[in-house]
Amino acid sequence: MPQLTASLENAEQFATLPKTDPNNPPVSARVSAEKTEFSKKTQAPMICLQFQVDSGDYIGRELPGYGGWYYIMAGGKRESGEYHDLRRLFDTINALRAEWTCSSCGETSTDNFLKEKVKATYHYLCPKCSRRADVKLDGSWVGKECRLRLDVEKMQNSDIERNTIEAVLPR
Ligand SMILES: [Zn+2]
Repeated sequence: MPQLTASLENAEQFATLPKTDPNNPPVSARVSAEKTEFSKKTQAPMICLQFQVDSGDYIGRELPGYGGWYYIMAGGKRESGEYHDLRRLFDTINALRAEWTCSSCGETSTDNFLKEKVKATYHYLCPKCSRRADVKLDGSWVGKECRLRLDVEKMQNSDIERNTIEAVLPR
């Protein structure tokens, strides 16, 4: 070992944000990056988002962090042949107040989808024409504001903790 000095001032490790619970409200953030990917196994399309915390002690922190992305299925089928549940997609569109166009009535809006209870499930409907139509997404989501419900997990084969995003919520 050569003789050298090293400064403790230059060592830091990011602390994870606390798990969202009654004592820790969802954290304010905005979309900082977006891309689309296709599942290698099924070719199902996915929207992938990264966020940046925009207030409080953790301001500027990227989530989910370590280069990770929040994945939202946007169509296609599982390996089992079932259609993917797109609830997360439509809840995220509403939370971000992102613009969308209904293929049935042609209306473009940022309004919330209607949720209609049918027996034990909710159907998502266009608020203008009340149909379960295809939705076309318009424009970038970068910069859109939201709150994030967070959890904490250990990284694979490691003791390092990282945040996971459980849900994107409206601001
Ligand atoms: Zn419509």
